[in-house]
Amino acid sequence: MSEQFSVNRELFDEVMVPNYAPSAVIPVRGQGSRVWDQQDKEYIDFAGGIAVNCLGHCHPALVGALKEQGEKIWHLSNVMTNEPALRLAKKLVDNTFADKVYFANSGAESNEAALKLARRWALNEHSAEKSQIIAFKQGFHGRTFFTVTVGGQEAYSAGFGPRPGDIDHAEYNNLESVKALISDKTCAIMVEPLQGEGGIVSPTPEFIQGLRDLCNEHNALLIFDEVQTGAGRLGPLYAYMDLDVTPDILTSAKGLGGGIPIGAMLTTAEIAKHLAIGTHGSTYGGNPLACAVSEAVIDVITTPEVQAGVKAKAKLYVDGLNAINAKYSVFTEIRGKGLLVGAVLNERYQGKAKDFLMAAMSEGVMTLVAGANIIRFAPSLVIPDEDIAEGLVRFEKAVAKLAS
Ligand SMILES: *Cc1c(COP(=O)(O)O)cnc(C)c1O
Repeated sequence: MSEQFSVNRELFDEVMVPNYAPSAVIPVRGQGSRVWDQQDKEYIDFAGGIAVNCLGHCHPALVGALKEQGEKIWHLSNVMTNEPALRLAKKLVDNTFADKVYFANSGAESNEAALKLARRWALNEHSAEKSQIIAFKQGFHGRTFFTVTVGGQEAYSAGFGPRPGDIDHAEYNNLESVKALISDKTCAIMVEPLQGEGGIVSPTPEFIQGLRDLCNEHNALLIFDEVQTGAGRLGPLYAYMDLDVTPDILTSAKGLGGGIPIGAMLTTAEIAKHLAIGTHGSTYGGNPLACAVSEAVIDVITTPEVQAGVKAKAKLYVDGLNAINAKYSVFTEIRGKGLLVGAVLNERYQGKAKDFLMAAMSEGVMTLVAGANIIRFAPSLVIPDEDIAEGLVRFEKAVAKLAS
């Protein structure tokens, strides 16, 4: 292909809507946890496409599923069902609390479905007054107007006219703040079983258990947004499995597709029945191509080797980052769970997370931030130990530059 124009970062500003500020680096290929840019510079990928590429880049099982399905059938619409969707749904049901699955194309769409289902369930089973949704400050649930309003960052939903109503925000890990809001008019509580975008904040067991109890007391649904925590990222297939609390509705996306866009909403048969024929839908949701790849993701991440690997690799990160901190004193703590790790910058480096990300990038390691003060790591669940070691060496060089 010989274009009559240069494909570079400048072209972004010329032809793309300015809602993103991408880095100057344009990656062109990846293999496992290594990525190469247009100049053939190599990077180690500790970002995983924001917790999406759970099996790294071009994992043979995923490429195989994509090629195989790509030569069979790509799309049908929901006028017909298809084999990959049925197989994937069966596997999700067999591996979780859920009886029923709805497929979407993203995290926001899965959450949108969950919220609409909760509202419809409350209307059918109770009354029109039971419509309050409780969510949490600093929570993140996507960018559709409903989900961004349920999300706990006021600034993200402002400036688009009247917001969807009857949504209140409590404080994460503060059960009293939920008690102050909840009543029999509460339809659902939506919560991340570890806040991702909000700063890698783990829930206390009392908080999560308390939410379940409050929902039971007030006949409200408990919705776990596992878009970031799911698909094996924290160790178990879904985070709820380690928390001794079962939600009524669970949403999954990001890692579920391993890089192909897909989302899912999981629930019980009793609740699912309220999403009756015609109440909701999606043209692409549950398409055979995405479902075939996702099925391969599930097959790999539910193996005991991968799940045990997450624990072992998480320890390499925590130990490695603590060792770096012992030398340079830049973090107050290393937190998170499984392969969702946050390094919290101390007083001296407030607001500088993006600087660390940029410095790491120039040393050849891709990282993420979660807000202005936390560097986030969300690598492939099967990243080789040598890549973790080499990536941490590169990351240390970046820290050394900024700390000197
Ligand atoms: C990323 C994320 C979403 C949004 O997913 P999209 O695929 O971008 O719509 C929703 N909830 C959580 C917890 C997320 O981390």
